[in-house]
Amino acid sequence: MYIKYVQGKPLFTHINNDKKQYSYLTEDIETDICIIGGGVTGAIASYYFSKNNIKAVVLEKKRIAHLSTSVTTSLLQYELDDNLSDLKTYTTLENALRSYNLGLKALDEIENFINKYGNKCDYKKRNTLLYTSKKDDVKSIKTEYDLRKENGFDVEYIDESRNKYDFDLKAGIISKNGGAELDPYKYTNELLNVSCGMGAKVYENTEVVDLLHHEDYIDVITESGYKVRAKKVIVATGYNTKLFTDRNFGTMTTTFNIATKPVSSFNGWEDKILLRDNGDPYNYLRTTIDNRIIIGGEDVTFVPDIFNEKLADKKYDILENKLKSMFKNIENIEIEYKYCGAFASTPDNLGFVGPGPKHNNLWYLLGYGANGIIFAILGAMMLTELYDGKVNEDMKLFKVDRFDN
Ligand SMILES: Cc1cc2nc3c(=O)[nH]c(=O)nc-3n(C[C@H](O)[C@H](O)[C@H](O)COP(=O)(O)OP(=O)(O)OC[C@H]3O[C@@H](n4cnc5c(N)ncnc54)[C@H](O)[C@@H]3O)c2cc1C
Repeated sequence: MYIKYVQGKPLFTHINNDKKQYSYLTEDIETDICIIGGGVTGAIASYYFSKNNIKAVVLEKKRIAHLSTSVTTSLLQYELDDNLSDLKTYTTLENALRSYNLGLKALDEIENFINKYGNKCDYKKRNTLLYTSKKDDVKSIKTEYDLRKENGFDVEYIDESRNKYDFDLKAGIISKNGGAELDPYKYTNELLNVSCGMGAKVYENTEVVDLLHHEDYIDVITESGYKVRAKKVIVATGYNTKLFTDRNFGTMTTTFNIATKPVSSFNGWEDKILLRDNGDPYNYLRTTIDNRIIIGGEDVTFVPDIFNEKLADKKYDILENKLKSMFKNIENIEIEYKYCGAFASTPDNLGFVGPGPKHNNLWYLLGYGANGIIFAILGAMMLTELYDGKVNEDMKLFKVDRFDN
């Protein structure tokens, strides 16, 4: 069955007209690492391997950054989807706190990349706000704040009396420099551009259809019958992993986004702080460099044919009404882009990094959960170390088979 993972008119692929094209593979080649998938995750992997002088080849079935990467809101935050106290059900508090700290490390990595190669992807460091407009949830927000504060995170607690935003807020946690935003299309292309400058090879319109496992290498077979012989293969195919394993990696939902035309002011939205409420499902909001607003959420259980136009339109209307009711002093809110996509979450909110239990040379790099880009960075760094024979202690948090009984 053909599964559609993305639907609608995504903002980032539409506003970027200058689209670089890579050729398709037309010969047999050899490499150290073959990365399957040319989304942001594959691009991040190619950057870290190339930076460490490990020969990398990226194979993309269709166009670079045109699947999940085209619809990601690209809210980059160290905090996870669930609060620390809720995560204790699936992992230890120590592990959850470690993930928060790793998130901060990944944010620094993005900044280092920007500082080194220039800001070509509309990157902006931001404060973040997790808030509730429900009286009943004030206690859980306060508990989350206390845990973060006690453990050294730079956070500020605000209540209704100190609400400086236009929307209803009963309690909130501001994380200072706890996040960032960027244009995922530009970021992916810039990562690949830099990687190619260091020797990586990228091929578009090159679908992988089979893997032939050998003791010390894998032959990656493309649809046109060419072969990439690689010492290690990295699965960076996002939510589409069926070719490699029967494993069910996460709980799939569809999440919806709308983006406005540029607005003339951000009245009532101090600092253009990254926003997330604590609903279930929650809403998330950011601004863009050209003064648009993106609001997302309204998640529903994923169905393979996500193009349920009626349902999607209903969700886009809900998001538009929500945005307008939150920011009554922002004039001329007009919606220009509407899109949705598959999204997968895991019980401990973390993605998957490392070899699967079956094939030692086949490694996964799957940024599941709301922090996919952050996990891709952390995972790519860990896999680069693994290639050199070093097992990073933190890789156990992202182990592929950690939920197996
Ligand atoms: C609406 C929405 C909002 C989101 N917001 C955020 C957010 O704010 N922050 C965040 O961190 N994450 C967010 N996510 C999650 C985010 O999309 C992912 O973290 C990230 O974009 C996934 O990138 P990826 O490269 O892993 O996957 P993809 O972009 O899907 O890339 C995988 C690539 O693999 C290719 N491929 C698949 N099979 C093959 C094959 N056999 N051969 C060759 N190529 C193949 C595909 O064509 C595709 O291009 C959001 C997701 C959605 C849907």
